[in-house]
Amino acid sequence: MQEFEDLKKRLGEVSALASAAGILEWDHQTHMPAGGAANRAVQLEVLSKITHEMSVSSETERLLKAAEKSVESLDPDSDEAAFVRIARRDFDHSAKLPTELVSEIARVSALAHESWAEARAESNYSKFAPWLEKIVDLERQVADHLGHTGERYDALLDQYEPGMKAADVRAMFDAIKPTSVALVKAIVERGPNAVDDSVIKRDFDEAKQLAFGEAVIKEIGFDFERGRQDRAVHPFCSSFTSGDVRITTRFDRNFLSMALFGTIHETGHALYEQGVAPRYDGNTLGGGTSLGVHESQSRLWENLVGRSRAFWTHFYPSLQSTFPESLGDVAPERFYRAVNKVEPSLIRVEADEVTYNLHIMLRFEMENDLLEGRLEVKDAPAAWNAKMQEYFGLTPPDDAQGILQDVHWSMASLGYFPTYSLGNIISAQLFAQANTDLGGVSAQIERGEFAPLLGWLRENIHQWGRKYTAGELLQRITGKSLDTDPYLTYLKTKYGDIYGL
Ligand code: ZN
Repeated sequence: MQEFEDLKKRLGEVSALASAAGILEWDHQTHMPAGGAANRAVQLEVLSKITHEMSVSSETERLLKAAEKSVESLDPDSDEAAFVRIARRDFDHSAKLPTELVSEIARVSALAHESWAEARAESNYSKFAPWLEKIVDLERQVADHLGHTGERYDALLDQYEPGMKAADVRAMFDAIKPTSVALVKAIVERGPNAVDDSVIKRDFDEAKQLAFGEAVIKEIGFDFERGRQDRAVHPFCSSFTSGDVRITTRFDRNFLSMALFGTIHETGHALYEQGVAPRYDGNTLGGGTSLGVHESQSRLWENLVGRSRAFWTHFYPSLQSTFPESLGDVAPERFYRAVNKVEPSLIRVEADEVTYNLHIMLRFEMENDLLEGRLEVKDAPAAWNAKMQEYFGLTPPDDAQGILQDVHWSMASLGYFPTYSLGNIISAQLFAQANTDLGGVSAQIERGEFAPLLGWLRENIHQWGRKYTAGELLQRITGKSLDTDPYLTYLKTKYGDIYGL
């Protein structure tokens, strides 16, 4: 097995470089002063160039071929065979991309991020448009290098969700759209006051929000010995090994949900990363297997757990005593309804569970049109606003609340958005299975017992890291491929109850 060990050592070095770049990116979004941007772009460009060169070098290819031979006789389900299989997938992906293109993307996206942040702050699309132009062009090149059978989207999506195609995304949306649209319509017909969420828009001291949020995530299982939380403009989770997993959050003094559910969401991602088997640390099988599975973990904790009646039966008394002036007169049921209010709205990250996927459909369609040249960057804001009108009956008052709201395009992450909807659907499929296997998860949550659910997720998903794909995990756990039924049942049951439909 010397060949296998040699490959492992080599890819461990590649991982170390990638995680050093990850730390620089984390710092970029949390602590770095704006004046560091230009130099940070250079650092990231150099690192990504070296990382890419190493990962596709003839030496790596030679080691990979030798390792493939050496694991031929092993059980395909063994760690070694899986390691080599995933290493081959990573190698083939990287080898198709010229190093100059990879480093150009790293450089451009670091600078584009800065101008996106400024453009959004000033609500000035023209400041970001030239960068978006460059990014769309670079992403087209990426798709064409990776190869596709007609739809560039397939190649880009595959980077985040191995094996998934644009046609699968369309099928997924076709399956959930009728129920989602009908639910939104029925809820809107109940009138804007059917659920009153004014109680979560009262005054909530920021320091107390932070302390409460940290207490909650500690209780559900976030390990502060192997993680930390900082502030960022756009919340995210980054992981370097299972022993160093960092989340970020942001606060609004007059909107409790922002930090509270944002923190629980990022914790869902972090629990996944902290739960990966330590033997996979710092190498090919470490980290989450796909963005869809990752998002299933954040959504499961944020929504199926965090916005459930059972969760607030347990946590509401301590929340109420943290904010006696703002919540002293609010009964638990009123609070539960408030955090589950459904309302067509402009901003994806603040969207409720029922309207959320409509935001994703809009982005999926726009990205596709941009990549295929059916839509020009200069016309994108108008296209965005037209779709907002069509799906939500709303027109953004400015581009900051429209096309400039998300960070993804500035990071050259086209093809990423559908994994959010995929995560919603997988979260319900997994939760239904956990409920069957554990029996009465809600009753456990009500008693503040989070260990059984976390243990189930650890055993079935987290520990495996990248060993199994999303499809393989779903088959192993539920005996089925992706199934939208549990998700639709969940939405209809929960919101039918809240809105008396
Ligand atoms: Zn997420």
